[in-house]
Amino acid sequence: MSQISYEIRGPLLRLAKDLERAGETVIKLNIGDPAAFGIEAPEEVVEAARAAVTRSTAYSDAQGLWAAREAVVADYAAKGLHGLRADDVFLGNGVSELVSMALHALLDPGDEVLIPAPDYPLWTASTALAGGRPVHYLCDERADWLPDLSDLKAKITDRTRAIVVINPNNPTGAVWPREVLEQIATLAGDSGLVLMADEIYDEIRYDDVPCVPAASLAPDLVCLTFGGLSKRYLVPGFRCGWMAISGPRGAAADYAAALETLATMRLCPNVVAQHVVPVALRGRQATKALTAPGGRLHEQRERCWKLLTELPGVSCVKPQGAFYVFPRLDPRVHRITDDERFAYELLEREKVLVVQGTGLGWPRHDHFRMVTLPPVAEIEEAVGRLAQFLDRRLAPAH
Ligand code: PLP
Repeated sequence: MSQISYEIRGPLLRLAKDLERAGETVIKLNIGDPAAFGIEAPEEVVEAARAAVTRSTAYSDAQGLWAAREAVVADYAAKGLHGLRADDVFLGNGVSELVSMALHALLDPGDEVLIPAPDYPLWTASTALAGGRPVHYLCDERADWLPDLSDLKAKITDRTRAIVVINPNNPTGAVWPREVLEQIATLAGDSGLVLMADEIYDEIRYDDVPCVPAASLAPDLVCLTFGGLSKRYLVPGFRCGWMAISGPRGAAADYAAALETLATMRLCPNVVAQHVVPVALRGRQATKALTAPGGRLHEQRERCWKLLTELPGVSCVKPQGAFYVFPRLDPRVHRITDDERFAYELLEREKVLVVQGTGLGWPRHDHFRMVTLPPVAEIEEAVGRLAQFLDRRLAPAH
């Protein structure tokens, strides 16, 4: 466990809770939970769960309800990922559970997994927990956070088993274009690696930026594609995700069998939430209006990004997807040597909770992540407090 951490809900959150118990109001910008900020799920999705309760008392098939898996197959076909069958789909209690299963089924002790830096720390922690070794390939802020493919290539060794892609990306908000995904698929193919694509934010995109399922570009490669209801349908509390295995069935047979064994060991995923999947996926796209100009997620992203980039010594690549910003604090201006200390002090003094960049696998102490989920007035308040905090740090000591 000494190698495992999950800073999004780490020691800083404990301090935030202590402050709240002491009567303080903390602006918590650490977790990507739209529901916690009053962004409501579509009524038909909530109603589907309500209606499913009495039909959900028994365990389901370990891979999930047939109708839910068929709905996932149809959804991917509509997105260009063809040829899946319901048997290729595993439902789970959120992508979180499935990531862990996917890595446990794949890795022998010491096997390496290439994970983007910065990353969503679930991937790093789950790799280590499964006995593997997370190896981070760099994304380049100067290239709008696209992956540095030469770094990725240089880090492939004879112990590498998989390349992880998080697209749209958490924490950077970058949406990786088709050509980049094709090049990653080629690198994976050349070295016989599994491609794991965490596409949980695939429908949270701004400015009509396209997003293709990586597996659709790599039909000859064993790929796992991850998605779920948490972000697309704004119900993270339902704990409902899925994973689809694609590519040459012969090569993937042992792996699929191992996944099946792990799926059966936890009997089945939450059945109420599985009943929601066909209703949600065949219904309207829940986040379309929110991410279009004038929509809440769009306007909050705009305001947050603009306010941050107006602060002295702060820069930020504008996110194209998801609901985070990952700003940079210029070390020549702000002289932060310990970003966790920085986040602690921001929380203690200004009652604003963010996640330090090193908690998201970033190798330097010059970034932090915040969610763009609160209403604009709260974003303004939070960035105002950050500005005050940075100003006071810069002011010469008396
Ligand atoms: N993958 C990424 C990139 C995420 O940002 C998150 C949650 O924030 C998850 C997976 C976890 O999703 P789930 O709620 O389906 O477990």
